[in-house]
Amino acid sequence: SKFIVGLTGGIGSGKTTVANLFAAEGITLVDADIVARDVVAQGSKGLEAIISHFGIEMLTSEGELDRAKLRQRIFSHPEEREWLNQLLHPMIRQEMLAQVEKATSAYVIMVVPLLFENGLDRLVNRTLVVDISPELQISRTTKRDNVDASQVNNIINSQLSRSEKLARADDIIDNHGEISTLKREVLALHQRYLQLSGTHDA
Ligand code: ATP
Repeated sequence: SKFIVGLTGGIGSGKTTVANLFAAEGITLVDADIVARDVVAQGSKGLEAIISHFGIEMLTSEGELDRAKLRQRIFSHPEEREWLNQLLHPMIRQEMLAQVEKATSAYVIMVVPLLFENGLDRLVNRTLVVDISPELQISRTTKRDNVDASQVNNIINSQLSRSEKLARADDIIDNHGEISTLKREVLALHQRYLQLSGTHDA
């Protein structure tokens, strides 16, 4: 099977930016956020199961999953949240691994915002954490999105702490500097991963 690097980091840390630099080297990306949307897309088994369980009111007038409504429902019902996780997590896991097996690059980067939180680090051969300070997470995210600092801070506090992520990382990429520095770091890691995937028994 393929050599998989799990890429993670907190909100606004630079996961997408880093992933795109690996993609520019020809490495296939498997993105957990995209897969999580695909498994509940129109016509999917996931959406069908959600509707049979929660009812047709979970659909928007366009026939898509009403995420806000579903979020609201599970927020006040932990057992329903658990039911949903039991449904979706295996589907997401299976689809991500299917995409990994289809990839033709030397190794694959799996981009997973909550890699450690959701135990997906068990699926990968190596973990890579994008590290930035909470101050920079806040300034870059508020600059990118239409959110205020306290909203970003709440999300930071809901995620695994910076020190815990660093302690669990096999590799760390520092994103306090400029994009040019980041690019050099990615190129060095890319060489390392080519080596590791070459000796990894396929
Ligand atoms: P999220 O988890 O919130 O989706 P992310 O970890 O994917 O975020 P990015 O979207 O890659 O993070 O980066 C957050 C913002 O910071 C983006 O607007 C990005 O362009 C910018 N950014 C990333 N790295 C740098 C850098 N080294 N210098 C300046 N801006 C950066």
